[in-house]
Amino acid sequence: MVKLLIMSRFVTIASAQLLRGYGVQATAQRLAVLRAVCSEPHITADAVAGIARLEIGAISRQAVYDALAVLVDKGLIRRIRPEGSAARYEDRVDDNHHHLICRLCGRLVDVDCAVGSAPCLTAADAMGYDIDEAEVAYWGRCPQCQESARIARRHHSGVETRTDRNRMSRLTNQADE
Ligand SMILES: [Zn+2]
Ligand SMILES: [Zn+2]
Repeated sequence: MVKLLIMSRFVTIASAQLLRGYGVQATAQRLAVLRAVCSEPHITADAVAGIARLEIGAISRQAVYDALAVLVDKGLIRRIRPEGSAARYEDRVDDNHHHLICRLCGRLVDVDCAVGSAPCLTAADAMGYDIDEAEVAYWGRCPQCQESARIARRHHSGVETRTDRNRMSRLTNQADE
């Protein structure tokens, strides 16, 4: 118990220093939100709220959103906004990595930049815009969703593999019990 207390105080000090280093006032709520984002890649605001509540007790949805906004604004974390799904947050901000996003289940993973250091941040012609952000997202279907589609197709066409038959007979046996 004592050890846990000491450890958590170390984390608090480290994060508070980190926040101050970025010019952010270190409040308990901001620290809890930052630690939640660091705990899981591409986390949603709802999941951040859940983790932060475990750590500091009650925290309103608005307070979570406010803290996330400040941390994004100051460059401590990055927000990804996949079209048609909830925004995700990550603490991997110091590189120019991109994302692979599944159209079916929304699974999102990191992929390194294909060309190197931040090439896409420099537009061929900025047309007078002051550009501060560029996003590359590859959309498609993840391996799990492709596999599900393959199994569904096989059942549909009546061609069953041994695995499918085993799975079906297991289900039938369970139903009989
Ligand atoms: Zn998927
Ligand atoms: Zn990422």
